[in-house]
Amino acid sequence: MNLKDYRKKRNFNSTTEPLERKKDNRRHKNLFVIQKHKATQLHYDFRIEIDHVLVSWAVPKGPSTDPKEKNLAIRTEDHPLEYANFEGIIPEDQYGGGTVIVWDKGNYENQADVNMSEALREGKIKIWLKEKKIQGGYHLIRIKNTKKNQEQWLLMKSKDNEADARRNPTATQPESVISNMTIEQIEKNDEKNNK
Ligand code: MN
Repeated sequence: MNLKDYRKKRNFNSTTEPLERKKDNRRHKNLFVIQKHKATQLHYDFRIEIDHVLVSWAVPKGPSTDPKEKNLAIRTEDHPLEYANFEGIIPEDQYGGGTVIVWDKGNYENQADVNMSEALREGKIKIWLKEKKIQGGYHLIRIKNTKKNQEQWLLMKSKDNEADARRNPTATQPESVISNMTIEQIEKNDEKNNK
């Protein structure tokens, strides 16, 4: 079953999805971005566009391509859409101080039977990604009884053709999809420029 077949099947089975997608296409692009962020603790900021903002989670281990892994994703504040292109150094005395690169970026497709705002409210997000490093279905599931000011979710790869327990893209493809630079290279350049 290839990607095309999979999509066809989803649309056919879903009554609400095609209508929702048309509306989505007119208004926005379903932006998706993962930023690698070397702060006090290294993490990956997983962001998806919902209602004109980037809804965000901090994922300490980053996304996995192994469907057996459940990675903790801590909901953080929404970011403006423009933030999707940001990479560089945040001064250490600022919030989120550290170095950021755009590790993966593109668009997502909603695979749930409800629209994205509803899926977010329900704590059950199912999306399809077709990006440079991360492909296929991903689930974000809110853990029950988490604090309202710091929701805990789990990020999981769906079992599909793009699942691969042997791939480890966070380790083998550490560079930015925008500048092709790693966090270490960006920091080294910055040191040189400040001398
Ligand atoms: Mn961050």
